[in-house]
Amino acid sequence: MARPRHPNKEVEEAVAYAESLRWTWRALGHWGRLFCPHADRDGCQVGIFSTPKNAGNHARQIIRAIDRCPHAKEKADDEKL
Ligand SMILES: [Zn+2]
Repeated sequence: MARPRHPNKEVEEAVAYAESLRWTWRALGHWGRLFCPHADRDGCQVGIFSTPKNAGNHARQIIRAIDRCPHAKEKADDEKL
C-alpha cells in the first residue's frame, strides 16, 4: 500500500526521514506505524498520530525513535548471512 502524505508538514518530514533510512510504513493504528529495518525480528517501531496535539513534539518524538534505532546499520551485514 502506498503511503499517504501526512497532513502535517513536520510529521511528514519525520516520516520521510524514517523512509530515507529504510524504515517501512504500514497502515496500522491512528495514521500508521513505522518499522525499522529490523522489523521482521525484534525491531523498533513507532506509531504516528493523524492529528497530534502538538505536531512539532510528535515529529521530534518520531525522529528520536529513529535515531535510537541500533538496527539500521546492521542490515547490510545481516544480508550476507
Ligand atoms: Zn531498530
